Amino acid sequence: MERKNVWETYDAKEQKKLEAFCGEYREFLDHGKTERECIDTIVNTIEKAGYRELATLGKSGEGLKKGDKVYSVWMNKSIVMFQIGEKPMEEGMNILGAHIDSPRLDIKQNPLYEEGGFAYFDTHYYGGVKKYQWVTIPLAIHGVVVKKDGTTVEINIGENEEDPVFFISDLLIHLAQEQLEKKAAKVIEGEALDIIIGNKPLVLDKKSRSKKEDVQGKEDASGKAGKEAVKAGVLNILKESYGLEEEDFISAELEVVPAGKAREAGFDRSMILAYGQDDRVCAYTSMKAMLDVGETDRTICCILVDKEEIGSVGATGMQSRFFENAVAEVMNLCGDYSELKLRRCLSRCCMLSSDVSSAFDPSYASSFDKKNVAFLGKGMVFNKFTGARGKSSSNDANAEYLAHIRQIFDKKKIHFQTAELGKVDLGGGGTIAYILALYGMNVIDSGVAVLNMHAPWEAASKADIYETYRGYKAFVQGACL
Ligand SMILES: [Zn+2]
Repeated sequence: MERKNVWETYDAKEQKKLEAFCGEYREFLDHGKTERECIDTIVNTIEKAGYRELATLGKSGEGLKKGDKVYSVWMNKSIVMFQIGEKPMEEGMNILGAHIDSPRLDIKQNPLYEEGGFAYFDTHYYGGVKKYQWVTIPLAIHGVVVKKDGTTVEINIGENEEDPVFFISDLLIHLAQEQLEKKAAKVIEGEALDIIIGNKPLVLDKKSRSKKEDVQGKEDASGKAGKEAVKAGVLNILKESYGLEEEDFISAELEVVPAGKAREAGFDRSMILAYGQDDRVCAYTSMKAMLDVGETDRTICCILVDKEEIGSVGATGMQSRFFENAVAEVMNLCGDYSELKLRRCLSRCCMLSSDVSSAFDPSYASSFDKKNVAFLGKGMVFNKFTGARGKSSSNDANAEYLAHIRQIFDKKKIHFQTAELGKVDLGGGGTIAYILALYGMNVIDSGVAVLNMHAPWEAASKADIYETYRGYKAFVQGACL
């Protein structure tokens, strides 16, 4: 069964809407290269649309009623949004879920060292990466350093034209005979992913020299550069620009990501090439659907979480109780909370667990089952199941639920396709779907097809992005099972 190419179905008016939508999406990506940055951008956007913070509302003693919009942020890295519907929450909600963390290189707690005249930051990669893809590309550093006194220094270097960038070296081709014999998994090892951050030794001015300072890393009394002078030079800059000491890296979360903005791709500008589209493409479309849907019968909810790429663990991952707690608080403010009602609510929800799906890549055609793979430009993707080796660890959505979704999508003329990640037994992947399914609710994996997923630059079709946004709106409006 062939699915239609979505581009062929749009008229000029719809294409204009699509272009405007994707322009804003690119801006979202440019402002959100870490989960914390995404949360900042999302909160700014939804507050303008009338969303209020749950905790503040709780303290004021004000209750919640139909049409009210609230959100709760957890540790600056995860967020839940609710828009209260007509029906009691006990009857269940319609939920959109996605993740806002992406593969990257995290800077270690004791990262700074000097070797061969270069200063380096030592890193530990986060999530699934092909390590060889991260060398010799311009990199930016984003994140926070929390100082001992509790103040937070925000870091964002490498995105503006005038900013410096950072990079990881690779062996020149002329000497790479032995390296090129290695397996791709070994050709660049994890410990080799250290970024070069400086090459100029600290040189003291005359006044300091006359004081005969003899500090490690600074010039000695004779005027010769001291030990680790390049590292000292970097530390000096960090001190002057950000007030940071070397010890402050202990309480820092700094993420090394590809530098540069999201771009349109192809002569026809049909695609977007950007870092972190897994899974910010689903996060952005979900948030926008929440904002644009209007009043609904059921309460609608959007969960955008951290730590999906490393197993949904930790206080800000989907396995954390923060979502369940937030639902309880919302029910309480609606004047309708009891433990039993909360359980009923959670078990009666309909959810789209959204994550990117692998797109058919003609250059690697043998990795896909062409009948059961997503194609760029053929609409929103549904994965009835994910998992690996005999659907292991998969949330396998119910046929009844899929039938309900088909009905909603066909009624609103939303283009969708169904897919598996790739050929049976070639690999696999997981999402947050199985965690919400623990409550007994209906959950299905869905999202946008992406080419070269988890690479520094991932590609997606503008038509799929727009169609997915339309699909999410139809879902939160119409789902009720
Ligand atoms: Zn993902």
